[in-house]
Amino acid sequence: MQKQVYFFGEKKAEGSREMKSLLGGKGANLAEMTNLGLPVPPGFTISTEVCTHFYRNKNEFPPGLEKAVLEALSKVEKVIGSKFADKENPLLLSVRSGARVSMPGMMDTILNLGLNDETVVGLAKKADERFAQDSYRRFIQMYSDVVLGVAPHHFETLLEQTRRKESVNSDSEISAAALKNLVNEFKKIVLMETGKAFPADPMSQLWGAISAVFSSWDSARAISYRRIHKIPEDWGTAVNVQAMVFGNMGEDCATGVAFTRDPSNGDKKFFGEFLSNAQGEDVVAGIRTPCPINKESSNGSALPTLEEKMPLPYSELVKTYQVLEKHYRDMQDIEFTVQKGKLFMLQTRTGKRTANAAVRIAVDMVKEGLITPEEAILRVTPVQVEQLLHPRLDPRHPRTVIAKGLPASPGAASGEVVFSSEEAEEMKKINKKVILVRHETSPEDIGGMDASQGILTALGGMTSHAAVVARGMGKPCVAGCGVINIDYKNQQFTVGNQVVKKGDLLTLDGGTGEVILGHVPTINSQLDEHFKEFMKWVDEHRGLKVRANAETPNDVKVARSFGAEGVGLCRTEHMFFEESRITAVREMILSDSRKQRETALAKIFPMQKDDFKAIFREMKGFPVTIRLLDPPLHEFLPKTDAEIISLARILNTSKETLQAKVRSLHEFNPMLGHRGCRLGVSFPEIYAMQVRAIMEAACELIKKEEFKIEPEIMIPFIGALEEYRLLKTDILAVCEKVLAEQNIKVPFSVGTMIEIPRAALIADKLAKEAAFFSFGTNDLTQMTLGLSRDDSGSFLPKYVEKGIYPVDPFVSLDQEGVGELISLACERAKSSNSKIKIGICGEHGGDTSTIEFCNRLGFNYVSCSPFRVPVARLAAAQATLKSK
Ligand code: PEP
Ligand code: MG
Repeated sequence: MQKQVYFFGEKKAEGSREMKSLLGGKGANLAEMTNLGLPVPPGFTISTEVCTHFYRNKNEFPPGLEKAVLEALSKVEKVIGSKFADKENPLLLSVRSGARVSMPGMMDTILNLGLNDETVVGLAKKADERFAQDSYRRFIQMYSDVVLGVAPHHFETLLEQTRRKESVNSDSEISAAALKNLVNEFKKIVLMETGKAFPADPMSQLWGAISAVFSSWDSARAISYRRIHKIPEDWGTAVNVQAMVFGNMGEDCATGVAFTRDPSNGDKKFFGEFLSNAQGEDVVAGIRTPCPINKESSNGSALPTLEEKMPLPYSELVKTYQVLEKHYRDMQDIEFTVQKGKLFMLQTRTGKRTANAAVRIAVDMVKEGLITPEEAILRVTPVQVEQLLHPRLDPRHPRTVIAKGLPASPGAASGEVVFSSEEAEEMKKINKKVILVRHETSPEDIGGMDASQGILTALGGMTSHAAVVARGMGKPCVAGCGVINIDYKNQQFTVGNQVVKKGDLLTLDGGTGEVILGHVPTINSQLDEHFKEFMKWVDEHRGLKVRANAETPNDVKVARSFGAEGVGLCRTEHMFFEESRITAVREMILSDSRKQRETALAKIFPMQKDDFKAIFREMKGFPVTIRLLDPPLHEFLPKTDAEIISLARILNTSKETLQAKVRSLHEFNPMLGHRGCRLGVSFPEIYAMQVRAIMEAACELIKKEEFKIEPEIMIPFIGALEEYRLLKTDILAVCEKVLAEQNIKVPFSVGTMIEIPRAALIADKLAKEAAFFSFGTNDLTQMTLGLSRDDSGSFLPKYVEKGIYPVDPFVSLDQEGVGELISLACERAKSSNSKIKIGICGEHGGDTSTIEFCNRLGFNYVSCSPFRVPVARLAAAQATLKSK
């Protein structure tokens, strides 16, 4: 360890903003502000290395620290012109922690350190007795709480009694005599609670405070915060010791916080609050209502502003914030104090902001020449873009949360509870807003989901039907909410004692998983010009293309409007569920002969062709990947007795025959077995119909509407090379036949999905015959038992506590399992076909760190739900910039 203590004062500091790892965020910025010549009270920072030494050596300070601290302290005394522990003219100190990143759970602040029964007399001479006694009682209170571990309620009770005795409302009205009395009472409490007298010696106070800051790095709260936020244990915290300046010395004193731009909407206006005659935490503690610093921050309030009350320090503050913003090239959150009309800066840091403000500030700063577009792109997080796209619950409105499930699809909505899709659709017809509550949803619920504002399910995870479909629709969904007990018969659900009946109002927050009783209003964020400009830069900086998973012309249109550059996955089976088609589909499935099947397929053919045409039109000029039929056939068949009877009547067969057929087609494990390409092998006429529909649609559009189309025909669920070869031969034959009939050339390609581990392993062989691969990580993660880690990095709690299978699309791919299979498959594929186009179309395609992973592996595109397209565009641009 080299230097342990870094001094700052009188416009010169030993540290700088680059030294965050050594000095912590606060220390580095105090040094930087000092070097900028700003009015910062002098002080010193004890480095994070000292902290690391401290907790690795049984709470021992390193040799040399005491000497370095004393030297720095005497420099502070010189600058400020008063002496620590001096009876006549005492120097008081503040002691604060400061890690590299702001970290709740750590010891925060001790003010007025250095006071005792003697120095308090000297302090009173600087202003008055009341101020001195008030500072003393605050010091004992803070020090006893954070250093000596005395519970704060002891002091608060006494304060409360004093206020009552004095018949005043606030602490600032308590008399000097009463404060002096409080000091004595406080000291008695300390003696009683700790068995020791409150330390009177300023030097032992100082070392006690320094130890407490270092020890707080190892507090349980700090440790769990670090685990959740993945902050390394060995970073340590710095300690900042600084000369006190007083905002509580009288009416010409104040303390406040400000933002260099409005953190809620990004407006370029100086914005903040202050309290006159107050100290430090009073502003945030909410004991007194703070006043606006200027008219722009007043929100119509008539309270006097800092600008009006103290024009000189205010104008000084304005100059200072301008210097800071220009220097840091970002919006700053600052803390200041005015002591007897003179301004002091206590802190500056990058200000937290809403999603709206983040975009607005980034774009404005590029225009002002403060930052480059590349920097702007890195300053907005994908999560913020996501927030911008969905309505949010009005944060000012109170909410009664009754349950919490998985945040399966973001956004928020309210409506009346219904328990069936039919009911949802009926309610929609009479313009009623509903929330659909189900154990789980199935493809038959598509209509009901579409008619609802949001979906709540008791079962299922992040890749459940409800979750995937809701995300595709851009509707909020809370899935796997196991605490709700649904009683379809009585049309109600319960959570503990709470009964929610059909027709009751319910609100869902799909971003947090909260289920809220009653109606909570939402606010819409509109995508303004700033956002458009921002996304233009994003698109100029990314290598990966972004496509959408979409199959209805409407979804494709939405995807285009969000900037999708093609369709990465059109699940053709979704087109089969529509009411007008399902009977023909069932007829096809239940056919006994190929001939019968072809008759049924002929009914579906024109509908599919029209769908493809509509999709091609919406995606004019962009690639469209169409996946041939994938799910096991039983998914299309009726389930209840009533449905079976009704279908048997239509198909002119008996209920028993139909029931037997349905049973025979049931796949026990629908994830495997007779589905995807294996269905195609068993029933070649299904794929033949689909391929013909695709190619005829393309030919007709090229001829009649004269635009370029290049259909990509995708074979699902390949597990063996022979399957691929066989189906590709069939597909090519149909394509050639159609092209010959139509007498036209249409570029097209055939490729496959990699959804089965076996397919990943034979990627080199498949790649020789496939024009493209698309990783289907929904199935691939399930089949690899790809686990998602929780916030602490462990696999276990997620499914142990929540009782769900841990496939979570918004947790990045498990790099040790699925991720490894993917990189291996890419490598093998490229070794045998350097031109192969590679994409991903599982839900992970919209996940930020997965996008970074795909970028690293040289993918051509990612494909995700339409509403996630802008998020993916940003993530892709950031991946490119970060890799440089
Ligand atoms: C997948 O498996 O990742 C995929 C996209 O297919 P599906 O979700 O339709 O099974
Ligand atoms: Mg799949």
